[in-house]
Amino acid sequence: ADVGPETAATIARRDALLGPAYRLMYERPLHIVKGEGAWLIDSDGRRFLDIYNNVTSLGHCHPRVVEAITRQVATLATNTRYLHETILELAERLLATVPGTDLAHMMLTCTGSEANDLAYRMAKVRTGGTGIIVTETAYHGFTDAVSQFSPSLGVTVDLGAHVRLVPAPRAYHADGADLGERFTRDVEAAIADLKRHGIKPAMLIVDSIFTSDGILPDPRCFLKGAVEAIRKAGGLFVGDEVQPGFGRTGEHMWGFQRHGVVPDIVTMGKPMGNGQPIAGLLVTHDAVAQFGRDSRYFNTFAGNTVSCAAAVAVLDTIEQEGLIAHSARIGTHLREGIAALAERHEAIGDVRGVGMFVGVEIVSDRARRTPDRELTSRVVNLLRDKGVLISACAMGHNVLKIRPPMVLDAGQADMVIAALDESFAEAAAGN
Ligand code: PMP
Repeated sequence: ADVGPETAATIARRDALLGPAYRLMYERPLHIVKGEGAWLIDSDGRRFLDIYNNVTSLGHCHPRVVEAITRQVATLATNTRYLHETILELAERLLATVPGTDLAHMMLTCTGSEANDLAYRMAKVRTGGTGIIVTETAYHGFTDAVSQFSPSLGVTVDLGAHVRLVPAPRAYHADGADLGERFTRDVEAAIADLKRHGIKPAMLIVDSIFTSDGILPDPRCFLKGAVEAIRKAGGLFVGDEVQPGFGRTGEHMWGFQRHGVVPDIVTMGKPMGNGQPIAGLLVTHDAVAQFGRDSRYFNTFAGNTVSCAAAVAVLDTIEQEGLIAHSARIGTHLREGIAALAERHEAIGDVRGVGMFVGVEIVSDRARRTPDRELTSRVVNLLRDKGVLISACAMGHNVLKIRPPMVLDAGQADMVIAALDESFAEAAAGN
């Protein structure tokens, strides 16, 4: 794509300096210099509506978080080997989101990958097993251990011999089948296969909104049978809340609550510090007891006073701005608006989601539900040129992944709907 000489030079410099493992988004990559609420502003002063970044879930540079970080960084930035009130307040506040459950402790990391890595270490110690069950296009992180159970990284990444994949609950493709029953059966078959190979199951881990599998919130409660099955086999159920957590679904604080199950370990990250690198886990005492006796946990930056202050400010903001209810209201408005576009645009096969998590499945043939990867990529890039930032996911790379900040307002949602309308029309006309 034509990006102009200045951008081309910056891209070349970046490639030379950072090497070949990094990727940029969009055919015409963005050079962002400032963020403000739902907006990102580029080096030419152009404004983009950022409805993709679910890290800055309260909006870019939320004043309350900025203030908390600034105050704390000017006072004390240090680690978990000293007593400090803020980490304890954070633990109490997070554990208060799961009352009446066995989740009893909070542990902190810097990234979601580390949280899942630590969850797996604890699951291995607790169960004496190594087997892992994940959905077929899941992403759980970048460490050596976690990339082995992150099939969305692609065919070049070796999944571990101890990993089994199960199909994600793709309601749009299920022709009315009972997805709860099917998922339970698939998890049971995976357990049996692990055992046949002499591998004891350690955990079933799911992102409860199945982000990289294509954003699959339904049917409600369908995870129950699978969770029972893994526990019966001696394994733990790990809920990866890196994507749906912190109220994004507009229903609860956590995505698993939609399904009426409680994980043995909950992992979280991304929106936890609205941009500060903080992630972590809620664990039952039982899940961590042996690990805590045999080992110890220290992570230099995780749980630092500044990140904890950011996370407490995030929890305050979600509560005080009523963002879970807002997420439900505006999310519904957005989804209904996009669903109405399906009457005009044949390529829109399915519109789904919950709260501020919307998936739009793009097909070349509605009757056959044939994935249209090319059109999806076209729409993503047309939207970018119109100033709306999203991306795509799912096995066929044909689901628009839309995750606005929870502070998105109705006017901004309408801008997104209008930009989608134009993009689908232009893409269909071959532009
Ligand atoms: N789990 C899920 C479901 C994720 O989407 C991600 C990040 N995309 C991770 C874990 C890993 O988090 P991080 O990038 O912070 O390591």
